[in-house]
Amino acid sequence: MADDYYQILGVTRTASADEIKKAFRKLARQYHPDVNPGSKSAEEKFKQLNAAFEVLSDERKRKLYDEFGDEAAQFGFDEKKAEQYRAYKAAQAAGGGMPFGGGRGGVDFDLGDIFGDMFNRSGGDVDFGEVFGRARGGRAAGPTPGEDITANLTLSFNEALTGTERSISLHRPGRCQRCQGSGQVGTPTTCATCGGTGKVRRGGRMGMTTTGMCTTCRGTGRAAPACPSCQGSGVVEETARLTVKIPAGVQTGSKVRLSGQGAAGSRGGPPGDLYIETIVTEHPLVRREGDDLYMDLPVTVTEAMLGAEVRVPTFQGEVTVKVPEGSQSGRRMRLRGRGAPSLKGGPAGDLYLTLQVKVPEHPSNEARQAAEALARAYQSDVRGSLQL
Ligand SMILES: [Zn+2]
Ligand SMILES: [Zn+2]
Repeated sequence: MADDYYQILGVTRTASADEIKKAFRKLARQYHPDVNPGSKSAEEKFKQLNAAFEVLSDERKRKLYDEFGDEAAQFGFDEKKAEQYRAYKAAQAAGGGMPFGGGRGGVDFDLGDIFGDMFNRSGGDVDFGEVFGRARGGRAAGPTPGEDITANLTLSFNEALTGTERSISLHRPGRCQRCQGSGQVGTPTTCATCGGTGKVRRGGRMGMTTTGMCTTCRGTGRAAPACPSCQGSGVVEETARLTVKIPAGVQTGSKVRLSGQGAAGSRGGPPGDLYIETIVTEHPLVRREGDDLYMDLPVTVTEAMLGAEVRVPTFQGEVTVKVPEGSQSGRRMRLRGRGAPSLKGGPAGDLYLTLQVKVPEHPSNEARQAAEALARAYQSDVRGSLQL
């Protein structure tokens, strides 16, 4: 597999957490977009590295990735959902028949429920036995709203500041085209589940029997045949291609909501929402805190001592910054509004520059003489205030 996370990081499957971290750091430096300006392939590689590291650096995610590969992403690396997915796969491998028996030899099995739960972010814990129990006793209740889905999207530091548009491919429970999501096709006839009475008897787990509304026909006694494409759930697995607009100013953990793009509702229920949760990679030079940005500004001894106007790149373009005469190393300067844009529509953050006075590393004789002359310019001992 070309996209194997281990291959991307160039480590073996038995690599330690430390080896993975080292491999990632090394490659991330090599392929960082700022080191390879304009290189699409480096950018792509950098994104792959981040995606691979996000999974392999997390012990829990790594374990699920080892077991399920790329499919692990479908259930959000969630152990509970993995458990259900495992059972679902086992059932599929057994030829579509349910492992927990019963039924009329029936594939009266509600895929929608499993997928609904698998993709469920906020929902409660569904007992798997309950899902199968329901499948045995007739189809589950009427229209059910689809679940919300959360998907992660990794962005570069710059993309997060400027906003971007991304095309993503998403695996989700979608509306069955054949029955338009109703779960039924053709002309309604006497309901086969309840024989037209609108009521069914259900065997409880403790040996008790209850009578309830027939959910196949919702108590009407008449139902159209279950759609063969979706087994009556109205939901089928699909791969959707979506264009996602990421607003400027997102951070790691920001959520962008796409209304109605979550899991399809079963039997005609409304769809859930899709939440894109952003992961923003770090910048080698700029640190972000809230909407404020922090960066070092290197200046020469001369600029720091005599004052200067220097050109400084910002994410909104180059600006001229006045370095005051007699500036010390570590002096902090604020460029108002040159930070990250506010997601909430407020004023943008600020850019803080910290002066770093750079001395010549290999001074010429002339420079040495100048430096010695400079030494005489100090009016007092520079370490005079160091009293511990
Ligand atoms: Zn259908
Ligand atoms: Zn019925």
